[in-house]
Amino acid sequence: MVGGQVWLARRSEARVWSRVRLDVAALSDTGRMRPRNEDALLVRPEKRLYAVADGMGGHVAGEVASGLAVATLDDEIPADAADSSAPQLVRLLVDSMLAANERILERGRTEPHTRGMGTTLTAMAVPRRGSSLALAHVGDSRAYRFRLAGLERLTRDHTWVQEQVDAGRLDPDKARGHPYANVLSRVLGLPDLDSVESRVVDVRSGDVLLLCSDGLTTVLDESAITRVLSETVDLHAAAAALVEAANAEGGPDNVTVLLVRVTDADSS
Ligand code: CA
Repeated sequence: MVGGQVWLARRSEARVWSRVRLDVAALSDTGRMRPRNEDALLVRPEKRLYAVADGMGGHVAGEVASGLAVATLDDEIPADAADSSAPQLVRLLVDSMLAANERILERGRTEPHTRGMGTTLTAMAVPRRGSSLALAHVGDSRAYRFRLAGLERLTRDHTWVQEQVDAGRLDPDKARGHPYANVLSRVLGLPDLDSVESRVVDVRSGDVLLLCSDGLTTVLDESAITRVLSETVDLHAAAAALVEAANAEGGPDNVTVLLVRVTDADSS
C-alpha cells in the first residue's frame, strides 16, 4: 500500500502540464455586524497572483494595514512571475511578505494613529506551466484545496489556540469557538516577525483553491464549506453562496472568499 502511494506521488510529479488554465471568483463583504470592511483582496490574473488580507487596528488602521499588504505584494511580484517555477514563486512570496511587514511598520512610524496596526496575509502564485503552485501565509486567513468533494486545509492558523493544539495542551475539538480563537500569534506589522510560512502545493486538473478570511471559517465549519463547494459548480455562484452562508450565521465579521479553479488546458 505504501509502495503504491509512493509510485503515485512520483507519477504525478513527473506529469508537467504545458498550460494551466485558471478560473477565478472573488467576493468581499462587510458582514452584518461590523461598520466597515477591513479585509482586502488581490486578484491579478496576468501575474497569476491572488491574496486575502484581514486587517486589524483602531479607526481606519485595519484597512490601511490590509491594503498596504496586498499593494506591497503586487508591487514586489514582477509582471512575468508566472514564468517562474513554484519553488521560485515561494521565495518571491516570502520576500514580498517580509517587505510588506516593513512597509506597515514604517507607516506606523510616520503616521502615529496607525501605530500597532496589523494584518493577516495569505497569498498564492500559480506558474503558467507545471502542476504545482506557491502558497505563503501569516495569520489565520486560510487556504484550502477542494478535490473530488474533499476539502483539505493547506495552512496552519497562526493563533494562540492553534499553538496550544500543536503543543498537545488543547483538544482540537475545543479550538473552534474558543474564547481566545481570535488571538493571533503572528501577523504582518510585528517588529520581530522573522518568518513567513510557505509551501509548494501540488494540484490536479479540476482542483479548486479557496483563500478566505476568518469571517468565513469562524461561522462555517469545514463540512459546511464542503457542502457549498460540492453543490455549486459555478465559481461565482459558489463564492456568493459562501458569503451568504456566513451572513446567514449572523455575519459577525467581514468575510472574504477567493476561489481559483485549476485546469490542465491540454487535457481538455
Ligand atoms: Ca476577520
